[in-house]
Amino acid sequence: MNKIHQGKTFRERAREALKDDFMRQAVRKAVDTLETRKEEATDALGNWDQWREQGKRIREHAVENLDYYLSQLAANVRNNGGTVYFAPEAKDARQIILEIIKKHGGKHIVKSKSMVTEEIHLNKALIKEGLDVVETDLAEYILQLADEPPSHIVVPSIHKSRDQIAELFSNVAREKIPNDTPSLTAFSRKVLREKFLQADIGITGCNFAIADTGAISLVTNEGNARLTNSLPKVHIAVMGMERLVPSFADLEVLLTLLPRSATGQKLTSYISITNGPKKPEDLDGPDYFYLVILDNGRSRILADTEFRQSLHCIRCGACFNVCPVYRQVGGHSYGSVYGGPIGSVISAFLTNDMERYGGLAYASTLCAACSTVCAVKIPLHDLLLKLRHRYVTHKYTPAAERTVFKLWRTTFQNPKTYRLAIKMAQKAQSPLVNNGYIIKGPPPLSAWTNSRYFPKAAEKTFREQWQQQHH
Ligand code: SF4
Repeated sequence: MNKIHQGKTFRERAREALKDDFMRQAVRKAVDTLETRKEEATDALGNWDQWREQGKRIREHAVENLDYYLSQLAANVRNNGGTVYFAPEAKDARQIILEIIKKHGGKHIVKSKSMVTEEIHLNKALIKEGLDVVETDLAEYILQLADEPPSHIVVPSIHKSRDQIAELFSNVAREKIPNDTPSLTAFSRKVLREKFLQADIGITGCNFAIADTGAISLVTNEGNARLTNSLPKVHIAVMGMERLVPSFADLEVLLTLLPRSATGQKLTSYISITNGPKKPEDLDGPDYFYLVILDNGRSRILADTEFRQSLHCIRCGACFNVCPVYRQVGGHSYGSVYGGPIGSVISAFLTNDMERYGGLAYASTLCAACSTVCAVKIPLHDLLLKLRHRYVTHKYTPAAERTVFKLWRTTFQNPKTYRLAIKMAQKAQSPLVNNGYIIKGPPPLSAWTNSRYFPKAAEKTFREQWQQQHH
């Protein structure tokens, strides 16, 4: 677990984040730009809703038939000369990858951006073994230097300024690197080029594996995944077990949705399709190809018919960009590798820790903006509401809150106690009311009134008004 993810609760981290004006402004500016570009790209494509519907159907079909497509994928990867491992847990995946590296005597490792390797905390495990590991995606390289986890699944260093990046790079260079974009990118290019040439192992994620051919696809804007999977002698790809499509025809639909939804691009600059190790007729490519397929809680989600849809996610990040909570508190506040609305849904299941992560269901206003933009139509707000229900059912909410809701239920179940409670509230509220609102309520009402106004109870109830008007 990274230092930013340790210890504190979502509320504590969010409270700190709300004081960080720079971060909030940077996040808002970046996600606004992404949103505008996305709207332009989807308008230009036309029939966006139908594309989303098609994407939803493809993901649904793949997830509903995951056992079949996983075994087809594994068989085809082996036919192509690759090796397949299934890793039930994060620790198994780390162990498998370490053993592959040791078998090939690997020392220098280049990685391209991969959320699934963040999920299994791979870098830390490799570095602990004395291996030289470098992230080659520019944003991930910045975060590696800063020892921070990503704060967005598509634009991981969205919260960093050019000044902060220049300082990180200057520390590596041991000289001042100017904070303009050309200087910063030129510096990282120079450093990373050397790392690519030196590397004996390349580790990538996998945007989508294609079951009927055993190929994997990688989508980047920097071309670093292509260098990672073709320059070193060994290529290890790590994928979440749900990240597959049946065929290239399905991939075409998802690659129409993903870049538009993620960054507002028609296509990313590079789409790499890898089909196992180098063949005799190939000019370049790795001598060895390994595919590590990770479960790590996905079977739990698959078995849970209420939450299974969350496995349809294609990690476009669009739900982050429109979420009013994410826009204010940024990605680190969630305390999970996966933040935003989708992270709030899946973190408790992936970690099997409802007590710690189930409360992320409350990191939402339930406005449904996430569901409205989701590239594959996952009803995220609905899943967040269901997760709240699970959280409450497990009794993880504070005891005082549970007591209040019990009283509330008892009161509402009986018309006499309800009317009595309303009368009492009308009387008790008067010293607290200002301009029609309760501004400073006593506990537990203060949890609400500390940050917003609570409307006062009406002088006359609806029943009283009705009776007056109709009798
Ligand atoms: S839940 Fe939907 S919008 Fe959010 S990242 Fe996944 S596919 Fe994109």
